[in-house]
Amino acid sequence: MSSAEHVARLENVGLSYDGGQNYILRHVSLSLSKGEFVALLGPSGVGKSTLLRVFMGLSAPSEGQVFSPQPTSQLQAEGQKRRAQSLVFQDARLMPWRSVARNVAFGLEGLKLTKEEKQARVLAALQLVGLEEAADRWPRRLSGGQRQRVGVARALTVDPDLLLMDEPFGALDPITRNGLQDELLKIWQQTHKTVLFVTHDIEEALKLATRVVVLAGKPAGIVGMLDIPPTEKDPESSAFKSYAARLRAMIAGEPDPGGAPYWYSNEI
Ligand code: ADP
Ligand code: MG
Repeated sequence: MSSAEHVARLENVGLSYDGGQNYILRHVSLSLSKGEFVALLGPSGVGKSTLLRVFMGLSAPSEGQVFSPQPTSQLQAEGQKRRAQSLVFQDARLMPWRSVARNVAFGLEGLKLTKEEKQARVLAALQLVGLEEAADRWPRRLSGGQRQRVGVARALTVDPDLLLMDEPFGALDPITRNGLQDELLKIWQQTHKTVLFVTHDIEEALKLATRVVVLAGKPAGIVGMLDIPPTEKDPESSAFKSYAARLRAMIAGEPDPGGAPYWYSNEI
């Protein structure tokens, strides 16, 4: 695969908060190809959010290299109308004193867009998440699921190459979570965004992703990954159950129970 198809890439990244005594991440290499939906799966506290922060450019790695989606110079040459990447948090982090539309517009601050362009972007993002009717409402009047949709709209409105999502549906009830997962898949199919979606839920990872990457160990590294064919998304199928069993084994550091497509370990 040529590097031109890569939207973002980490190469042998290590991250320590104490000058190298303890590493949170070690020897992490991960390439994201244009248009894929990658689930980053791992237990709580392993370093998933830290890895997203590295992709966002919010944490500098102690070792290795980060290749971000688009060089700043290219975005400047395009007139600074978009951002290379954006992030959706587990809690939507909305500003209670701003309406839904103005919360979404907050993502556009600093971009060189006219007022009309900004309005059009906000409306388009609200339409994508099915909230165009709620533009003038206040965050406190929204349900948890609606708040997360606003967070997704705010991230999409900057037209990022890479959409990073940090357990965005983790705090929602199962029915709402299911609905939002379905909507996210529709949005992904419509927008062709490259998505890196963090979760600790194996079923969620298998439902959403084209590829599941497992982060485990201390320091954390990528201990395995599976490609999930679109034809094998039925949770009742034996293929799905076998993927789930393999992912559980990867997380636990147990031997691979076997099966297609591939297993890999980077010797952390
Ligand atoms: P996850 O998102 O997988 O639950 P995190 O990336 O939030 O895990 O955290 C991974 C580890 O890094 C945890 O042990 C956490 O305590 C530690 N950590 C996170 N941020 C900092 C920081 N700013 N300084 C020191 N340690 C941190
Ligand atoms: Mg986290």
